[in-house]
Amino acid sequence: MTTTDNNKQSPSKQVAIVILILLIIGIAAVYLIHPNDAPWMPKCLIHSLTGYECPTCGSTRAVHYFLHGEFSTALSYNPYMLFSIPFFIGVLLTTIYTGPTARKFKRFFQSTFMIWAYIISYIVWGIIRNLIN
Ligand SMILES: [Zn+2]
Repeated sequence: MTTTDNNKQSPSKQVAIVILILLIIGIAAVYLIHPNDAPWMPKCLIHSLTGYECPTCGSTRAVHYFLHGEFSTALSYNPYMLFSIPFFIGVLLTTIYTGPTARKFKRFFQSTFMIWAYIISYIVWGIIRNLIN
């Protein structure tokens, strides 16, 4: 194995790094700018067309309030983010890092069970939030 081989990264790792960088930039923007004060921020297409809230509606405001330490307000906008954000960070980090500990966590975060659990809970949350509102 040469030094060049050590510097090569898998395409999924490169994509994960790009997504992580964009996520950090996005989180910084959401921290600095209140979503209600930014009319240029994209609105939810599902909510605009149907009046129903999709599973991610309110996420930007939830993240904004979470980053400012207003946890109850954040939860009122979208409590599903408490599950979703750690899950995605786990998937990204276990894609980027490849050490023994990361591989152990990767078996958890990127298991078929966790992917399906996330997809099903996402859909169920989308239904439940419209029934209780
Ligand atoms: Zn939405």
